[in-house]
Amino acid sequence: MTELTSLKGIGEKTAGAFQRLGIFSAEELLRHYTRDYEEFTQPVPLYQLVPGQVMTVEGILQKDAALNRFGGIAIVNAYLSDMTGRLQLSWFNAPFMKNTLKAGKHFYFRGRVTEKNGRLMMTQPRIFEPGTYQEKYAGHLMPVYSLTKGLTNNTVVKAVADALGKMGEGEEFLPSWIVEDYGLLPDRETTIRMHFPRSRKELLLARQRAVFDEFFMAMLAGARLSEHARSQVSAHKCRPDMRMIRFMAQLPFQLTAAQSRAYREIASDMCSGRVMNRLVEGDVGSGKTIVAILAMMNAAFNGYQAAMMAPTAVLARQHYETVRSLLKDWNEGREDNDPGSPGSEGPSDPAPVSLVLLTGSMTAAEKREAYARIRSHEADLIIGTHTLFQEAIEYADLGLIVTDEQHRFGVGQREALYHKGDLPHTLIMSATPIPRTLAMILYSDMNISLIDARPEGRIPIKNAVVGPDYRQRAYRFIYEEIKKGRQAYIICPAIENEDGDEGEGSASQLENVLSYTEKMREVFPSNVRIGMLHGRMKGDEKEAVMMAYKAGELDLLVSTTVIEVGVDVPNATVMMVENAERFGLAELHQLRGRVGRGSEQSYCILVNTSETEKAAERLEILRNSNDGFAIAEEDLRLRGPGDIFGLRQSGEMAFRVADIYSDAGIMKKAKEAVDRLLKIDPEIQRPEHAALGAVLSRYMERGSLM
Ligand code: ADP
Ligand code: MG
Repeated sequence: MTELTSLKGIGEKTAGAFQRLGIFSAEELLRHYTRDYEEFTQPVPLYQLVPGQVMTVEGILQKDAALNRFGGIAIVNAYLSDMTGRLQLSWFNAPFMKNTLKAGKHFYFRGRVTEKNGRLMMTQPRIFEPGTYQEKYAGHLMPVYSLTKGLTNNTVVKAVADALGKMGEGEEFLPSWIVEDYGLLPDRETTIRMHFPRSRKELLLARQRAVFDEFFMAMLAGARLSEHARSQVSAHKCRPDMRMIRFMAQLPFQLTAAQSRAYREIASDMCSGRVMNRLVEGDVGSGKTIVAILAMMNAAFNGYQAAMMAPTAVLARQHYETVRSLLKDWNEGREDNDPGSPGSEGPSDPAPVSLVLLTGSMTAAEKREAYARIRSHEADLIIGTHTLFQEAIEYADLGLIVTDEQHRFGVGQREALYHKGDLPHTLIMSATPIPRTLAMILYSDMNISLIDARPEGRIPIKNAVVGPDYRQRAYRFIYEEIKKGRQAYIICPAIENEDGDEGEGSASQLENVLSYTEKMREVFPSNVRIGMLHGRMKGDEKEAVMMAYKAGELDLLVSTTVIEVGVDVPNATVMMVENAERFGLAELHQLRGRVGRGSEQSYCILVNTSETEKAAERLEILRNSNDGFAIAEEDLRLRGPGDIFGLRQSGEMAFRVADIYSDAGIMKKAKEAVDRLLKIDPEIQRPEHAALGAVLSRYMERGSLM
């Protein structure tokens, strides 16, 4: 690994900013692909200017630029006009621009177009000599990276360029026959062109290879993983236990037919004598949690420990509370069954089922206590985050591992937990609506249960797609719901004002949680209790806010997408999403799944701040459907095969580039390559596969390509 600070322009402070994005080394930086690209297009005539967009124009100045001073600020103004329109160009605090901008000079200007009092303007545009622009910029795609406080796009660009130079010729890790047979770009070329493509065509080729790699490694790792498990005799063979029937009868609701079927499939695996490897797939809100809990109870009744891993501490705590309340009923019910003998320990009813929570935000003492209970088998059910497979933890007898929202985890993390037990059964839960045929390719090592219907009596969510001018009405509507005793969410794409963002590349200003929360405190009467949630808060702060919201102590929660997965507050009836066009449809569908979980009518308000037709069309898909599968299909149809600038559908399996829907073709090829490879070298141990073997072990360890 190469230290970030060894790169040009990166000191301790900047390295700290990179770390907040999860980038700790130069190698990781090179895998930090762009969030978007800015295409340096040919200049457009003035009538084609669109307010809000970054564009290039060209023109000959009619007059010298004028320098004015207002207060302490120097403003240089120049004007461009052609037969079709007129554009004002302004620079602040750059008086020297006056010397450049002389009458008769021919320049290109590039910047964001704004509109003020019906007049078009560009402030602080970049200026180019026509020849330079044509040679060095035209047609190129400039990377636009995800940023954080203390990082500008320019800093990232320079660091990436320096890293590319320093890393030299890397060794190609794919066998050469794969590179040749599948027409792939070489590894190093791919990295360079993912960051700095000289044309769309180059980007397309680079992206193809990057996508191939992600699928290939995930499926190869999956195949190797299941190698341990496939048709292995289980050390945790279960028997049907009568207590399961009693436990089910005691649930606060009746299982749906789909839930019962999924559980029967699970129970039959666990009793088969072989190790279970099963994926439960069901749309958001279909009720997957209870199915997982049943599997865990089955393990516990059979004398084994069961662990459930959730992607966030908030979600882990929520599951913990759910299970705790079910267990309370159960453990108390046990005693009621046998009123005569206190602490009854009859043979069919040996001991109460016990539960432990483990998250990163617990104190050291709390963690130690949890570890001790896990090691001594005092804890039957263990719920936590990725903390569950830390080295310090020893399980007494781990018989079942459940991974909730598994698309948030990589194969590596599944593997790490897997090794905590002696061939434990595994159950993974996914809300990603993958068509069955694709699921069978991607998860060829798994059996699949589908939960294809929601609990009865749910009223479909009412959806609206609105422009920014609708906001005031939306707030009034939210207030009405709050007055009725319901709760609401407002989602913003950013946490704080991205001061590093130079404003180029993104078409609209991003709403951020910090300022939005302030604003809401002014908009709503003071009796409305407003909370805020984002990924940069400390773990225990996040949990506290979420628990307060769940307990009804907050009316409105302004949040980033940290609430996207799993959060279950049935009393919440409104979800408003700011800059909705900034999210993938699958992500929006997941977010929307936070409402409509109770018996009341729920609403989803998507605020579209973009003016493009495409954005409107995409959001329309969501407005018209509440079905994850249908949405995925429609979205795919809308985006042609070449549309790689579109937003990714999902973060399935922690893929960074690949999209399981639009890249299904590449997925199939990668699968074929994996199968061919495993036929030749099932253990990946031939000398010519040494480089691949090394990348594979790192992948299994870290769950990602870098
Ligand atoms: P998801 O599949 O998104 O994980 P959850 O398991 O969180 O969904 O379930 C969503 C909500 O539906 C929860 O409040 C849960 O208690 C409730 N629920 C689950 N199954 C049923 C059922 N059979 N009948 C009624 N409500 C149910
Ligand atoms: Mg869930």
